[in-house]
Formats: sequence, C-alpha cells, structure tokens
Amino acid sequence: MATNNAHKLREIRQILGDEFLVSSLSDIGCTEDIEETADSLEGNALLKARYIAEHYGVDCFADDTGLMVDALDGAPGVYTARFGAMNGYGDSHDTSANIRCLLDRLDGVALRSAHFKTVIALVEGGREHVFEGRVDGRIVTSLRGSDGFGYDPVFEVEDSGLTFAEMGAEQKNLVSHRARATRRLVEFLKGM
Ligand code: IMP
Repeated sequence: MATNNAHKLREIRQILGDEFLVSSLSDIGCTEDIEETADSLEGNALLKARYIAEHYGVDCFADDTGLMVDALDGAPGVYTARFGAMNGYGDSHDTSANIRCLLDRLDGVALRSAHFKTVIALVEGGREHVFEGRVDGRIVTSLRGSDGFGYDPVFEVEDSGLTFAEMGAEQKNLVSHRARATRRLVEFLKGM
C-alpha cells in the first residue's frame, strides 16, 4: 500500500485480516514523499499507486480520502488534508487545525450533512483499477470520542448516533468509507 500513514495501514490490515499481507512504503524502502497534485481523489490515488509501480516494480494500491460537506458545497473534498492550512489554521496535515477550521466554517450552520469518500487505485500487472467507498453522516458541533484519527471525532455516522471516534476500530471498520472501498478491492483480488 502506497502509504506510511500508520492509522491507515492498521485499518487496512484489520479489514483485510490474515488472508493478505500488506507492505507499506517503508517496508519496500521508499522514503520519498509522493506529492498529491491531482485535482480529484481518483487522480491522487492513481498517482501514488503508479509512482510505486513504476519506480519500485511492484504491484501496488493507494487510497485517497475526502470529506465532502454539503453546506460547504462539497469542500474540503480533495483538499481535506490541507483544509486548515489553506485557511490560515496551521500546517498541512495538522488534524486539530483542520477540525477547528471545519467547526468554525460551520458555526451557526444548521445543515450539517456530509460524507466521506475513499478511492482506492490498484496497479497490477500494468493494469489500473479503481474502487470506491462512501459513508454518510453529519458534522457535530464539538469533538466526541478518542479513537480513530483525522476528522473522526467530528463525523457522526448516519443512523448510529456515534462519531467514528466513539465507535472503536471494529465498528468503524464495518461501515467506513475505507472499509467499503477495501471490500471492493478484496472481491477483485479474490476473483483474480
Ligand atoms: P488522505 O487520504 O491521507 O489524503 O487523507 C485526507 C484527509 O482526510 C486527512 O486529513 C485525513 O486525516 C482525513 N481522513 C482520511 N481518512 C479518514 C478517516 O477514516 N477518518 C477521519 N479522517 C480521515
């Protein structure tokens, strides 16, 4: 998997179980930062998987995730990791800055619906495949829960009454955007 994000790796490994062995970028000796310069989730996922396949000669998959907030016309979307930094709230990938920025933008806004979308791009044998997963929910007004990562404490999953951070890994991995996209990847791999 074209990531060194320990949270993502743990989730993917938990979702895949013992049947698959997933190597990270550091496992294959890749230390360079692959910049996400595309303007779509699919573009960024493909860019990372292609880079590893081309430079390291291994089949590879990569994911890219975005949070789409209806009241913000689908923002932050492809800029989810950089949302705070782009709006003067700290550094890129700074989770608490991202969350502060989001809650400030939605201060006093009644429409709180949002969804997470994950796109997984797989490059195998020179062929490219894309798998998607989505989960609907809403942005709560203050942080709840301590599990997970990123925006998990402010994203309440539809029909659950719980944020991802209140759910714990097992429950999150049953319903999450990443789990849904990963299950599609697994179906494909098993069918190969
Ligand atoms: P990327 O896919 O690593 O580019 O992640 C984009 C942004 O979405 C980052 O700010 C992540 O912290 C956040 N993010 C990705 N997956 C999740 C998740 O499962 N829960 C909460 N935030 C996430």
